[in-house]
Amino acid sequence: MDTVSIPFRDKEIECASREKIEAIQLEALRRQVEHALKTDFYSKRFAKAGITGPQDIKTLSDISRLPFTTKGDLREAYPFGLLAVPQSEVVRVHASSGTTGTPTVIYLTQKDLDLASDTMARSLTAAGGSKNDIIQNMMTYGLFTGGLCFHYGAELMGAMVIPTSAGNTLRQLKFMKDFGTTMIHATPSYLLHLHSAIEESDELKREDLRLQKAITGAEPHSEELRQKIQDALGIEVYNCFGMSEMNGPGVAFECIFRSGMHVWEDRYIAEILDPDTMEPVADGETGELVLTILCRDAMPLIRYRTRDLTRFIPGPCACGRTHRRLARFTGRTDDMLIINGVNVFPSQIEEVLLKTPGVGSNYLIVVEKTGALDKLTVQVEITPAMFADDARVINALRDHLKAEMQALITINPAIEIRQPGSLPVSEGKAKRVEDRRTAL
Ligand SMILES: [Zn+2]
Repeated sequence: MDTVSIPFRDKEIECASREKIEAIQLEALRRQVEHALKTDFYSKRFAKAGITGPQDIKTLSDISRLPFTTKGDLREAYPFGLLAVPQSEVVRVHASSGTTGTPTVIYLTQKDLDLASDTMARSLTAAGGSKNDIIQNMMTYGLFTGGLCFHYGAELMGAMVIPTSAGNTLRQLKFMKDFGTTMIHATPSYLLHLHSAIEESDELKREDLRLQKAITGAEPHSEELRQKIQDALGIEVYNCFGMSEMNGPGVAFECIFRSGMHVWEDRYIAEILDPDTMEPVADGETGELVLTILCRDAMPLIRYRTRDLTRFIPGPCACGRTHRRLARFTGRTDDMLIINGVNVFPSQIEEVLLKTPGVGSNYLIVVEKTGALDKLTVQVEITPAMFADDARVINALRDHLKAEMQALITINPAIEIRQPGSLPVSEGKAKRVEDRRTAL
């Protein structure tokens, strides 16, 4: 058998025993609690919960005594309510990618930035990156952490970084060819776009590129899509998880085995909780990811509700790392519909629609009450070609969609076929769900 060389940045920590990891977490959590008390926000919250200081955190399970923090809390604390150091200590500000309302911002001291870069470098190393790589970062530079926070981590690892930022595909391709880019960081949809651009190009062929790996995140995507990109571009695609509130894209990362994302437990405490009861789910079951950052001075964040749904993958990873792995995210709690007691995600319905030929790009999910029961209706626009077709063909499409959806969500939906252009088109983010049960 071939021995695979497994790259580490800090093997001792990355492969530490559970006891050691938990000891690090307990000590860091106590420090963060003490530190958080310096903010107006947490001193009030902790007082309500009867937490007076680190002495109240005796074991890791005492984390359950601490209150949650939400995105709404961050907005209320805007701009400086969660700052735990004098403003003169802050060297960088980032903000969430939200497009409306008050932004959620984070602050970093130089020490915070150094640690964030180290976490990012560790993540890239786990994915097989090294100082020999030429990394082109196609994420937006600016308030979004996918630009700068990724960039500094890649530099710290020693790679040559090309900060092209997002867009300008022809220039991206030129640099990839001229510099011999080996690794790129981009959203899944942009990776597909790059592939089409290579296919259409007269001047550049796939063989002209040295590309081996892509790091992708920022957009939810399925395992099928990963496979499609890997096959199309002939590269390895690594999934990662991050959020600006948690210092950006290096929170959890896939190692070379690409079987779930190791969450760096010496720097974060990850809890997976039932979103209704906020109690821990059984090991391996899906729930809401709640994160506590253990390595930030400027702005502590305790038990932050990410609203993302995932699960821990049980068992050890072939790489030897002991930090637990998060599975691919299945959706967000704020998107979830409960229909006659069954959890349904709009993304599941979309999945069926996207893979069915003849279906257009616009649809609407309607949930309403009929008597005591919930009724799910999916209104689907079809393509002009399909609309011009025989009624039998359209009926067959309706039956097909119904059967496919029922197999996936276990609920029998009504399917209403609509002519092209008949559903309302909203500006900006499309409205895909109309829950009429709440409008009573
Ligand atoms: Zn691993």
